[in-house]
Amino acid sequence: MRYEDWHTHNALCRHAIGSIEDYVKKAINFDLNVIGISDHFPYEYLRSELPSLEQIPYEEYAMPLYDLEIYFLELENLKEKYLDQISVRFAFEIDYFKHQDYVLNRYLKKYINKLDYILGSVHVLFGKAGTFAFDDGRFLNKYKEYSVNDEIYIEFYNSLQDMIKSPTFELDVVTHFDLPKKFDKKVKDKDNIMEKAIETLRLVKKNDLTVEINTSGLRKKAKEQYPNIDIIKHIYDLDIPILLGSDAHKPEEVAYEFKSITKMLKDIGFNRFAHFKKRRRSFIEI
Ligand SMILES: [Zn+2]
Ligand SMILES: [Zn+2]
Repeated sequence: MRYEDWHTHNALCRHAIGSIEDYVKKAINFDLNVIGISDHFPYEYLRSELPSLEQIPYEEYAMPLYDLEIYFLELENLKEKYLDQISVRFAFEIDYFKHQDYVLNRYLKKYINKLDYILGSVHVLFGKAGTFAFDDGRFLNKYKEYSVNDEIYIEFYNSLQDMIKSPTFELDVVTHFDLPKKFDKKVKDKDNIMEKAIETLRLVKKNDLTVEINTSGLRKKAKEQYPNIDIIKHIYDLDIPILLGSDAHKPEEVAYEFKSITKMLKDIGFNRFAHFKKRRRSFIEI
């Protein structure tokens, strides 16, 4: 089996390093079958709609709107150039913001037919502590505004649920399913948070979406893939499709720990990974 990495970034988003080509070349080195280029969709379009966005450094989170054309030109070029060696798939990781689908889709419309898949993510909360990116270390002081970390998880899962349920938000894959654990902040009532995660997984199933097994958590303080093994077992029981993402922000992180994670997944019982082309899902045996 040749691995496929469905979640990578590059210098266009202003917080990753390396050109798209650097990631493609690394993937060829590792003999991957697919390299999914899934850089962050711009946040800029929300400026006038969501004034509280000014509280986060969104210009460091994603490419500006004027780079979108360059992104696709580069992707088309690399797809062609390395055709015999690897499949380059086109994607965006798009953040869900409640009630903003209409404006998002106005900007996405032009590119949506070029995409092979869309990663749907939640990185920004609009809850008890105001607007902040809970996975950005610069906002760690915001965690103190919650009486227990559990509240952050609840806000996160509520947001994920809104995203999954939204009839106007386009997505194929739900990313890093327990991202609030990034800084290894412990929860008080584990069972309650697990219940919330399972409730969210049922919605994933109902909407026939795919969940990403994201290995970047292994590089973070949490020292564990997203999501944790208990959630992965529920994903298996619910027969929800999965695929692998490294969330590489450096070329050398491509396919990070894919071998060990695949072994773990096979031990649980998984025997296939989802695969996307032009937003149609198929499967590869593992
Ligand atoms: Zn990123
Ligand atoms: Zn990402």
